Amino acid sequence: MSDPSIWVLEYARSPAHPVSAVFYGAHNQGTMNLPFSYVLIKSGDVVALVDVGYDESDFGGTIAESIGVTHYTPPQQVLGECGVSPDQITHIFVTHGHFDHIGGLRFFKNAKVFIQKKELESWMWILAKGRRYRTLAAGLNPADVLHLAEINLEGRLTLVDGVLENAVPGIDLYPAFNTHTAGCQYVVVRSDKGGKLVLSGDVIYTYKNLDGGDPSDPSLVPPGLANGSQTALIECADEMLEHVDGNHRQIIPMHEERLGELFPSRTTSYGLKVVEVLLSANEQSRVEFWY
Ligand SMILES: [Zn+2]
Repeated sequence: MSDPSIWVLEYARSPAHPVSAVFYGAHNQGTMNLPFSYVLIKSGDVVALVDVGYDESDFGGTIAESIGVTHYTPPQQVLGECGVSPDQITHIFVTHGHFDHIGGLRFFKNAKVFIQKKELESWMWILAKGRRYRTLAAGLNPADVLHLAEINLEGRLTLVDGVLENAVPGIDLYPAFNTHTAGCQYVVVRSDKGGKLVLSGDVIYTYKNLDGGDPSDPSLVPPGLANGSQTALIECADEMLEHVDGNHRQIIPMHEERLGELFPSRTTSYGLKVVEVLLSANEQSRVEFWY
């Protein structure tokens, strides 16, 4: 893949999210707006998503309501902003099993789904441990695990075991084990025009996780929510920075509110952002007014 287009599509938001969930150790620092997004990648015949949001009509919607998520908008409408329908999605790279990243899979009947084998195994293990372990199951909709089994029986599931280069041409998957969740992965897109771009999943929520809010004396501050290790989160963030020679702007955190300022963007009629990270020579802009 040498000339992809990439958009970050906001599909909901958490307007009063605890700052301590986004930055480890940030106790008593109030709340912040946290956008919920997935990423659309188009290149040639490939129409891929990194994560898929959730389904408001099932238990994912209940979890979302319990943590104050608003503005939920279904994929038909969100992807429609880029002229794509859910049936056209060919590949889905799931960074991890939290409801807001995996719960929307049922909208995409034709897509091949890629998730780390370790992520699926770890959720099965957590569920098998029973209610006393439910702290580790926070953010999981158990029905999403069942749905992966259905997708598997349909022949659409790939259980990735570590690094997978060229999952489709130009897109690599990297494990982020023992970080935000046990079997997380992140996605690297290689392009001629935009260089390497890292789609971080929840290993990095925002750019502040990369510099601690002080670019002149940066420190890696992991997210507050982790089933794995804070040390592993810091080391994985450092690995992402190595992919992009330390250039923060080549890392795309899906919960980052400032993406709309750093890249061309527009706000939809329903109040959510479309962010154009990279535009192929063959593709029309989806953020310009004239399109
Ligand atoms: Zn998560």
